[in-house]
Amino acid sequence: MIAQHSIQEVLNRADVIEIVGQFVRLKKRGANHIANCPFHSEKTPSFYVSGAKGIYKCFGCGKGGNVVTFIQEHEKLTYPEAIRWLADYYKIALEETERTPEQIVQQQSEESLRILNEFAARYFHETLLSTEEGKAVGLPYFKQRGFRKDIIEKFLLGYNPEHHNEFLQHATQNGYQKDLLEKAGLVKNRSGIYHDVYRGRVIFPIQSMTGRVLGFGARILRSNEKAPKYINTPENELYIKSRVLYGIYQSRQAIGKLDECFLVEGYTDVISLHQGGVENVVASSGTSLTEDQLRVVGHLTKNLTILYDGDAAGVKAALRGLDMALAQSFNVKLVLLPEGEDPDSFIQNSGVAKFHEYVKEKKQDVISFRLEVGMKEVGSDPVAKSKLVNEIAESISKINKAEDFALQDHYVREASRKLAVDESGLINLVNKFIRERVEQDRRHGRRDTLETEVPTPEQIVEQPEITAATTEEQQEWELIRVLIEHGEKLYEGYQNVADLVHQRVDPDLFESVATRKVYDSYFNYLNDYQAFPQISFFTNFADTALQHTLTSLFQIRNEISPNWSENYGIETLSGDLNYMNEADSALSYFELKKIMKMQDELVKRFNSETDLHKITVMQQKIIELKKAEAEIIRKHGTVVLKIWGKR
Ligand code: ZN
Repeated sequence: MIAQHSIQEVLNRADVIEIVGQFVRLKKRGANHIANCPFHSEKTPSFYVSGAKGIYKCFGCGKGGNVVTFIQEHEKLTYPEAIRWLADYYKIALEETERTPEQIVQQQSEESLRILNEFAARYFHETLLSTEEGKAVGLPYFKQRGFRKDIIEKFLLGYNPEHHNEFLQHATQNGYQKDLLEKAGLVKNRSGIYHDVYRGRVIFPIQSMTGRVLGFGARILRSNEKAPKYINTPENELYIKSRVLYGIYQSRQAIGKLDECFLVEGYTDVISLHQGGVENVVASSGTSLTEDQLRVVGHLTKNLTILYDGDAAGVKAALRGLDMALAQSFNVKLVLLPEGEDPDSFIQNSGVAKFHEYVKEKKQDVISFRLEVGMKEVGSDPVAKSKLVNEIAESISKINKAEDFALQDHYVREASRKLAVDESGLINLVNKFIRERVEQDRRHGRRDTLETEVPTPEQIVEQPEITAATTEEQQEWELIRVLIEHGEKLYEGYQNVADLVHQRVDPDLFESVATRKVYDSYFNYLNDYQAFPQISFFTNFADTALQHTLTSLFQIRNEISPNWSENYGIETLSGDLNYMNEADSALSYFELKKIMKMQDELVKRFNSETDLHKITVMQQKIIELKKAEAEIIRKHGTVVLKIWGKR
């Protein structure tokens, strides 16, 4: 893990204008910079970047965030990867948090494998393109498959010479140890004699989302019945089969942009589709889809379209992992290719226009696919049919009902019609599966209770998503915004705005768990570091829902209508002293709440009090509270009216 202070160093250093400027052409306008949005296509700029606030916001598609989310989104990276990207850019050495000896060994081993793999990939690639043997043996194979030179380069395709263990020699000459070469699956030790594993094979490097070479697939060229057609890197610290997706590096941007990912089976399917202009495609490399692979795709899109051959193996492969995808809220579609075609041959024979047309026409959803395949297998066997009904019901139960009620409903109707079973019976069955799962989750001890200790940012991340804000919640978020944005500014009678809030707000009056946690972590940070947490500290919480809420708090409000001041002479309220009004206004909500709570308590006691003297004192107090209440209402009418209605 990257040390928190290293992350902070990167955040302090990273300049949103400079970084965003690496990817889009920014123009200065007023206090901000504008550009055509890199996340959706547009002709006139609605993408705003505020250097002062360190954030960006698109008023066209709604995307927004800070410099880290920009890199995450644009480069399709995870949070730590984006931090590393920025650290690289600014030449900041990242410090890792304390690691156990095992972790250190693991990391060193990963690192040496990564360096070796990159060395090997370059060697194979150059051997393919620049040696006699590569040009005579390796290259013709790719040419015959119809691969262009630019595509061969894009996928770093390569070739390993057939004789003399040339790779082994080259690698040992360059200082690589034999045991590391063996671990990477590049050489083999046979009774003390080492030799190349990929002799006479063409090489497909398998890259990570960030372009690291994790391992290789190597295909034999000579027909040899004893040798396997493909050899893959064995599992090691770097190459974890269940996580790799071939083509993810080359496809990541198109997948995000088109909001869809095609899944195919083979390396050459991915490459051919890219060459044909379909760049949002990955291959699961022969394994069935795993949860980890789905998670990788899920960062980019929730729309997964599986292209499969019509043969039995193709259907089986397509069926695997589908429930997992449904459970992860993927919208999964299947496309059966014409008889005798695979994606590679289909796009080469028919071209990209035909490909898209075909996909559009033949796209089928999972349940319908299941039904179709199932009905064929079941025939008139009643036992098999009842099994199928159960399977379909279970699949339907996995659709996230909150998100897709209509879809679930649609499937129930469709399935009951095709299976000729009673609709309400099927609904009961679906509900049974849902209940079982809920029960299972409960037994596994999901915690819903509120924690009272002060949370760390990680704990905030674990909070459930924040739903549409109530008026109370909006008021609480407004206070959070004022605190984060103006906390360090001066306020008369107090050290600063943060001090004002700290002294005057009763944290127990927060109704939302999320705002309370952000509030606590603000003052925690202030206490621990004797420094005001920056906006980035808060907008970096990995939970997207919370991130979204926080980011939208800092929308670049003054630039929505940049021409206002020119056209109408209206100066937007970004004045230097306006923050005090904002602070007052945000506070007034809490003050009023406090007053009303006190009143309620007093009235309760008042009603049961018999001592005349005490009653008089209470009466006096209630009158004072009423006065204070009226004063707040007079000053901050709009805020108050909203709460008033609730009373
Ligand atoms: Zn946009």
